[in-house]
Amino acid sequence: MIDGHLSDTEFQKFASEPSLCNESIAKHIESCDTCRDQTKVYQVLFSSIEQQARPAFDFDLSALVISQLEPAKPKFSWEIFTVYLFAFAGVAVILFSGILFQEYCSSLFSGSSTIFLYMFIAISLITILFQGFEIFRKYQKQMDTLNIS
Ligand SMILES: [Zn+2]
Repeated sequence: MIDGHLSDTEFQKFASEPSLCNESIAKHIESCDTCRDQTKVYQVLFSSIEQQARPAFDFDLSALVISQLEPAKPKFSWEIFTVYLFAFAGVAVILFSGILFQEYCSSLFSGSSTIFLYMFIAISLITILFQGFEIFRKYQKQMDTLNIS
């Protein structure tokens, strides 16, 4: 049971998504006249906001904005050049050390058991899958934020 009345955040949450609220909030709203009235105020407010016509321009906004943008020019940047230089150097060092220590690298997994190798591969694949899913979810969220209409 909730002591006192609900907060504005709880009213708004219950008015917009009642199924996502705690059962204690729903029970309090059922039993408390003040909170029930406040919840109805928010429900009326939300329904009237949803009934409002979406604002729309009577001209093509994207064409107007795009016409004022300067076309991107590919230009040389020392910062990006340095990043690529260090990345290339890192890959070169890894490849060179792989060639240099080839005989040691080939015997890296030969002494270990097969189950260890499969566990290593499975953990790597699961990690890559979760990372990929997280990147995809973040991308979808950003696209949903951009697609307001
Ligand atoms: Zn109350």
